Amino acid sequence: MSAPAKNDTAPKPANFLRTLIEREVQDGVYAQRRWGGTPGDGAHHAAGVPDPMAVRLRFPPEPNGYLHIGHAKSICLNFGLARDFGGVCHLRFDDTNPEKEEQEYVDAIVEMVQWLGWTWDVAGTSHLYYASNYFDFMYRAAESLIEGGLAYVDEQSAEAMRANRGDFTTPGTDSPWRTRSVAENLARFREMRDGAHADGAMVLRAKIDMASPNINLRDPALYRIKRAHHHNTGDRWCIYPMYTYAHPIEDALENITHSICTLEFEDQRPFYDWLLDKLAERGLLQRPCPKQHEFGRLNLTYVITSKRKLKALVDEKIVEGWDDPRMPTLAGMRRRGYTPEAVRKMAEDTGASKTNIWVDYGVLDIALREDLEGKAARAMAVIDPLKLELTNWADLFGADHREPCSAPAHPQRPELGQRQFSLGPEVWIERDDFAEVAPKGFFRLFPGNKVRLKYGMVVECTGCRKDADGRIVAVTATVVPDTKSGTPGADAVKVKGTITWVGVHDGVAATVKLYDRLFTEPQPDAGGRDFREVLNPGSKQVVSGYVEPSLATVPADTRFQFERHGYFVTDRLDHRADAPVFNRITGLKDGWGGR
Ligand code: ATP
Ligand code: MG
Repeated sequence: MSAPAKNDTAPKPANFLRTLIEREVQDGVYAQRRWGGTPGDGAHHAAGVPDPMAVRLRFPPEPNGYLHIGHAKSICLNFGLARDFGGVCHLRFDDTNPEKEEQEYVDAIVEMVQWLGWTWDVAGTSHLYYASNYFDFMYRAAESLIEGGLAYVDEQSAEAMRANRGDFTTPGTDSPWRTRSVAENLARFREMRDGAHADGAMVLRAKIDMASPNINLRDPALYRIKRAHHHNTGDRWCIYPMYTYAHPIEDALENITHSICTLEFEDQRPFYDWLLDKLAERGLLQRPCPKQHEFGRLNLTYVITSKRKLKALVDEKIVEGWDDPRMPTLAGMRRRGYTPEAVRKMAEDTGASKTNIWVDYGVLDIALREDLEGKAARAMAVIDPLKLELTNWADLFGADHREPCSAPAHPQRPELGQRQFSLGPEVWIERDDFAEVAPKGFFRLFPGNKVRLKYGMVVECTGCRKDADGRIVAVTATVVPDTKSGTPGADAVKVKGTITWVGVHDGVAATVKLYDRLFTEPQPDAGGRDFREVLNPGSKQVVSGYVEPSLATVPADTRFQFERHGYFVTDRLDHRADAPVFNRITGLKDGWGGR
């Protein structure tokens, strides 16, 4: 119910999270929770109603960049599980870090989660939240921990703190400030809040165990002093919670049942549990508390999915923005022409496991072709045009004759009707459909050979014309009479090759952007390699081609299968009906360049 996804009746691949949630829902683990109508503390929820949502999950992006294909995995997992178990998935902006976060990113994230087909609105309630709205509670919870002897203000220098943390083989050493009184700690913490101390002068730490084998439990920092303007709370705070402190609290206030994150947070789980347990014990949060579950990251070959590195590609102008069609951002993939259905299918097919996985980029293209094969209208386009002159046209039909031709808009969907175009004395063909000397196995145009102009007539090649530099400027051929496709006896002349074409008289000039992989290596940033060293210089090629007249006035963001070439989309930004721009999404078959 948290998503309108239409094709959700297919059986779902099993994964450990699905199995776990199924069992917990059956056992009623979360059945007693109450919901106060909005996120809030234990008392707020206790005064509410039994939570109408069987489960609550969340997708918690930090608004410091655009969403990428790895995020799509997490989005589809969380929203998909919520939908399947009668729950909701919250969209929560994890905006507790005052730096780097921008409204532009917030807007782009909202747009792309919706583009994927998900919604956080359930029965008229929007579950879009901002973690920064919980700063007051986080502060109150910190004072409560201090009052319980569970947190202290540490004034050691950053270096001393690091040195005293120990390492995997050495236990840590207690800070000299670890034993001061509750009253002293409270006073100091309030001074921190009130701006009495310099940035970095001291931190609030949890008091757990400096000898714990899990370094994350060696008195982790909860709050730091940082004078920074926050996009939501302005200059109200000069102390900000640490992510590891903020995140469990955000989940608890929102009544999240299953807090799903990637594997690198596994070592944080004991602190997640410690913190929520202590705050529930102190009456601040309701039980049962949310539980964290980790799954493996999705990595796609030929793609990088680190926001920092993607930002570098943008900042260094290696690409033309976050929505450059070569970017693995959802905004880039949308512009490239990928469908939300294909992205969702890929996310679903890759399941969820306890290890980070590498998936071949081809998996996404297979999902895309599966989706577009049935949807995209067909059209003919010539991408590397060479003129073909039909030298007996005037004698056979008269110079001004145009022979009407037609073809189905989609071979399996007659309801979509026919495309109309016409054949004349000159047509555009692909440059590589002609060879002066035919290599072995080449059945297209070469002197003396006959081919069919698809949906048109059979022609016999007679030669070519060249310019002063020896470059071929036109191919010549004669029409073989009575071979028009669809007329009686048209097949009497047998040919081994059929080529696509566009009439010179009615073809529409179009800009075609041929995109390819941004990197030449399957794991561009593996082993600490600088991804700049493996950029594919041919990742974007812009060419001028021709498309058939039925494409003269198509809107932006419309997908086609150009026969023999692959899938293309009218660019959502650059395309104009009177100056069409097509992006190549992918070829018809797998492989480099999709060709
Ligand atoms: P990045 O490393 O690109 O900055 P992040 O994890 O820091 O990614 P967040 O905005 O914090 O970015 O991510 C939101 C959610 O998306 C998190 O729950 C995170 O675990 C998940 N996520 C990010 N990348 C992937 C990935 N490659 N595969 C699966 N989930 C991912
Ligand atoms: Mg992150």
